[in-house]
Formats: sequence, C-alpha cells, structure tokens
Amino acid sequence: MPIHILPDALVARIAAGEVVERPASVVKELIENAIDAGATDIRVECAEGGRRLIRVTDNGSGIPAAEATLAFAHHATSKLNSAEDLAEIHTLGFRGEALASIASVSQVTCITRHAAEAGGTLLRFDGGRLITHERIGRAPGTTLTVEHLFARVPARLKFLKSTQTERGHIDGTVTRYALAYPHIRFTLVHDGRVSFQSPGSGHLRDVLVEVYGADAAAQMVEVGDASRVLSPAPMASDSESFIAVYGYASLPTLDHANRGKITLFVNGRPVQDAKLSYAVVQAYHTLLMTGRYPIAVIMVRVPPAEVDVNVHPAKAEVRFRDADAVFAAVQRAVRRALLDNMTPPEAPTMLSGRTDLVEGTSRLASATESASATDIIERPAQPSLTGSAAWERVGIPKQVGALERSTPQPAPPAPTAARNSLPALRILGQLAESYILAEGPEGLYLIDQHAAHERVLWERLMAQHELGALASQHLLDPVPVTVPAESAHLLESQLDLLRNLGFEVEPFGGNTFLVRAVPALMIQDDVATALREIVADLETGDAVLRKDLEARVLRRVCKRMAIKAGRVLSFAEMQALVRDLEACESPRTCPHGRPTMIYVGLKQIEKEFGRLG
Ligand code: ADP
Ligand code: MG
Repeated sequence: MPIHILPDALVARIAAGEVVERPASVVKELIENAIDAGATDIRVECAEGGRRLIRVTDNGSGIPAAEATLAFAHHATSKLNSAEDLAEIHTLGFRGEALASIASVSQVTCITRHAAEAGGTLLRFDGGRLITHERIGRAPGTTLTVEHLFARVPARLKFLKSTQTERGHIDGTVTRYALAYPHIRFTLVHDGRVSFQSPGSGHLRDVLVEVYGADAAAQMVEVGDASRVLSPAPMASDSESFIAVYGYASLPTLDHANRGKITLFVNGRPVQDAKLSYAVVQAYHTLLMTGRYPIAVIMVRVPPAEVDVNVHPAKAEVRFRDADAVFAAVQRAVRRALLDNMTPPEAPTMLSGRTDLVEGTSRLASATESASATDIIERPAQPSLTGSAAWERVGIPKQVGALERSTPQPAPPAPTAARNSLPALRILGQLAESYILAEGPEGLYLIDQHAAHERVLWERLMAQHELGALASQHLLDPVPVTVPAESAHLLESQLDLLRNLGFEVEPFGGNTFLVRAVPALMIQDDVATALREIVADLETGDAVLRKDLEARVLRRVCKRMAIKAGRVLSFAEMQALVRDLEACESPRTCPHGRPTMIYVGLKQIEKEFGRLG
C-alpha cells in the first residue's frame, strides 16, 4: 500500500480510542462536561453496561443554539483560549476532543438549552455525521445520549468485558465524581433501576455513607480543611501553604485488602498516582497489618500553575511542580487526623483492634497489653511482643509452616486456583442461617460461616502460637473435670503440651483434673466439655509428633469457638467475617481441610439458564 493520508473520519476513530476506551470513559467525559457547565444535578442512565445506551442529563448552563454543532467538532472548546490558559486550567475539560471522539464511534443525540435562550436544540449524529438539527423545548441544561457505542468499531467492541464488568467501571466512575463533588447530586440508573444516589448536601460524609455504607463511614475520620479545598475561591500560588488537603480516612479498625479504596483527587480531578496513594499508606505506618490498606478519599487542591494535568489523554495522571511537598502535605494531614481521632484504649493491640464479630478474638486482644496510639505512630518498631512490630507480624501469619501443611488440602474449589487469595467480595445476604452469600467479580460465593470462622481463628491462633504469644486467661473459679479412667494417664502425660497452648490443668486426685486457665479465646466456653473433647482428640490416631498433637488441640479450640451454623448474622458481622477471611493465607479451606466456600461462576450460571451457546 502506498503512503497516503487517512480520511478524517478514520483519523477521528483512531483518535477516539485514546479518550474513549470503554463505556465508563464516555460517562467520565460527559460528567466532566456537566460539572464544567456548573450543574448541581447530574443523572447518569445506562443500559447493558453502557453498550446499548449511556445518557447523561444535567441542569448546567447548556450550549447556545449557535454553538451546538461546533461543540462536536474536533478541538472545539469553550474552555481554553491561549497557550497561557493551558498553564492555568480551572476546568476539567480543555481539549475539545471528547464530544467529537464519542460521536465518531457511536450514535449521539444532544438536547440542550442555554440558560439565557428561550428555545433549545436537538442534534443527532451517526458515526460523527450530523443527521438531524432541530429546535426543541426543554429546561436549561443538557442531555447527551450515546447509543450503540463501538457498534462500528469491532476491534474496540471485542475488548469490552462482560456487562457486569463494564457496569462496575461505570459505578466506579460515578461514585468517584460523587465523592469529589459532594454539593452535586448524582443519580446512577442501570437498566431502569436507581443503583446509586448522592444527596448533593455538600458534605463528603453523606456521600461516603452512600458509597461505603453507614458502618464504614462511621469508622472514617475527617482529614484536613474542607473550606480551603471545596471552596470555589481561587488559590494564590504565592501563599505560604499553597497545598490544601481534605477528605476522609479510615481508622485502623477498618481496612481493605488492597489500595483500591484509596481515592485521590487533584483539583477536582480523579487521579491515579502511586506516589500519592503511598503517602496515604505511609500515614498508617505500623497502624495497619502488613498487607492491609486504608480506605480513604483524599482531595488535594493546589493552584493550577502548580500542576500539569496535560499528561495523559484520559487525564488520569498529573505532574506536580513540587511533588515532594504535596506528598508530605497529604501524609501529614492523614496522620494528624488519625492521631487526633484514635482513643488510646482502642489502639491496635498485639492481636487486632479491628471490629471483629467474633466472641473471643476481641477478648483475646484485651488480654494483652495495648500501647497508646501515639506510641505506635511515633516510636520505631520495637522488638517486644506488645509493641508495634509484633502487631504487624501477628497480622499476617507468614510461616504457618509444617503444621499447616500437614493438614489435608483439597484442590481449592474456585476455578482461578492460581492464587489462593480471594477477590473482594460484596455481601448479599445469609442463607439458611448458615451460609453467607457474596458476589465476587465473576460469580457467586457461598461461604460456610462456621468453616470460614474456623479458618480465621486458626490462622490467628497459629500465628500467635508461633510467636509464643498465645494468650491465656485464668478462670475465676477453677473447674474440676473428671475424665474416663482410661484417659487419665494420657491427659496427665500431656499437661505440658496443653500448658504450651494456654491450658493450665493439674491433677486433682483420681480421674479428676482441675482446669485453672484456658486460651483466652475460650474463656466463655464450657470448660469441662472442651477438655473431654481434647482428651478424645489426643487419643485418636497413633502416637504422633508433638506439633501434630498441638495442631489437633488448636483445631478443636477453633471448632468450638467458631460461630455455629444456625446463627443469624448481622450484615456487619458478615462483612467483618468475610474481610477477615480475605486476609487469611488459605481462605478457601477450613483447618480440617474442608472447603470454606463454594463458587458458582457467572459462566456456569449463564449455562444453567440456557444463555450460553
Ligand atoms: P472540552 O470539555 O474539552 O471543552 P468537549 O468535547 O467535551 O471538550 O466539549 C466541547 C464543548 O461543548 C465544551 O467546551 C462546552 O462548551 C460544550 N459542552 C459540552 N458538554 C456540555 C454540557 N453538558 N453543558 C454545557 N456545555 C457543554
Ligand atoms: Mg469535555
């Protein structure tokens, strides 16, 4: 093929790829236009994850009739005049590319009315060509409808993921802007049903409640100064503290398995900046278990001249003139907020200060010393068990080791067995008072609440045991327990092993033993029954290694203390349990090697409904 210049329409389609990657990118561009137009109410409607239809309706300024077609031309913008303006961008848009790009890969209908004009305009484009141009009545504002996205760009269409996945990206986009603009009321509708709505009250906390739920929002504290970040007044570059930080960050009682819930904005623009999110994580140094991350919404405001937003076509990256100063300001603000809001007794103890549903684990925590919040933040890691270092180590039992491996491990039930870890799960409810129903990225998880809790307790106990830190609790009244005559001798020979695991048992004459202390986790258990079961466990099987015997006893402890099938769990309890399970090294099996969960993939569900093939 000889070298030739591509036709404009083809150039446009190629360029569109940079701005319009998937339905969520259309949603993003249209929301940004609505925000730039001063809207206070933005409604986003989607059908089939945005593939069939995306409609964004706003009550902003609208487009003057004389300019409406121009808005869809390339490099057509009302937001930028000169090269100097580029150095001081106050709006989200400025390239004048979005509408043209979107129109080139879909069918677009625009109905708009400028606030100062009596009538409105209706425009319809098909593959970038204007096919309808009429006058029409409507209230001031703009409605942009995008249909059949990528229908004529098969290469793009092929890259779209499932409706569910695309929908997830749209949800993420809308909720991010709702967080960044608490004074704007956002409504998100999927296939005719409202799936998210922010109140537009101007308070970030109100949006947090809608996005993360009331429970989580209650465990987040305000960071920095709202007035300087949310106020529309311009910032002066020369003022001494030209970096303003505002947002909310989770207390250490609330955490997440990855950095995905650290949401960052710079001058009202969502950004993905590894360095900034690291600044947030750094503020939690020693406060969170290794491998756990905070949930945070952090907005940074700097004078426009301090930041270059013109780095990336989708504008997800920014470049600061003084990145270190911004990093330090974010870290300081988050840390300050944590220090101010953490009450010392609630500070993380050696085990876990997290909100646990577990009867027992929290009690365990109180059985150990707790350092004050300030201690933990300000002091370097200490070697002692009560210090922050131990707390960090206990969090993730790295070396569960031989014991763990000696338990039978069936093949993990999930199809994606490559990694044993769990994806983030969304709780749907409880089944038969025994199973937690949760939605994962690609299907349904049915979690056995008892087995899951056994796993959680097991990994905690094993980690403490490895550190020689298994907490023991003395009984107010020692309990005499009589065991079968043939077992007395065996029990007597294993008192030392039991002591190592937190049991203080002494011979009391004949077949009777006196229990003085039990592992702290078991403090409310029926001590006599527990001891008899443990003796029975010790008796089963051949004489085995001490480690195996210890594991057997601890498995019994976990089994007894794990929540039972048949117990109704609150939503918060289910959430806490699943979160704890997510943090486990081997979340998919219980300590006895049985599965903790059953996974039913969407593919299989579709097959069952006859939707495949
Ligand atoms: P940009 O936002 O970079 O200027 P766009 O292609 O997204 O480029 O939009 C082109 C122009 O159309 C904008 O500059 C603005 O004047 C106008 N416009 C687009 N959407 C809206 C809207 N929802 N309300 C008012 N004006 C809009
Ligand atoms: Mg725009």
